[in-house]
Amino acid sequence: MSKFDLTRAVKPATGSVIKRILVRCPSTGRLTATGKTVEESAWDGTKLNRPRLNCPHCGETHSWTKKDVVLAR
Ligand SMILES: [Zn+2]
Repeated sequence: MSKFDLTRAVKPATGSVIKRILVRCPSTGRLTATGKTVEESAWDGTKLNRPRLNCPHCGETHSWTKKDVVLAR
């Protein structure tokens, strides 16, 4: 009956790093978090379905592609 089993940190397997998806605003050049995350190793195979972003920097709605994306921790 060890309580250490309950508090042991769970490490993700190698290669499954979760990244936040940031998109660069074309008007201001600033990065904006989309609120989405992706497993880094799965990003290459990820298909986007016409994603849009309500941009807090310029107030417009941007449609974005993978080329506009920066993956951040
Ligand atoms: Zn913008």
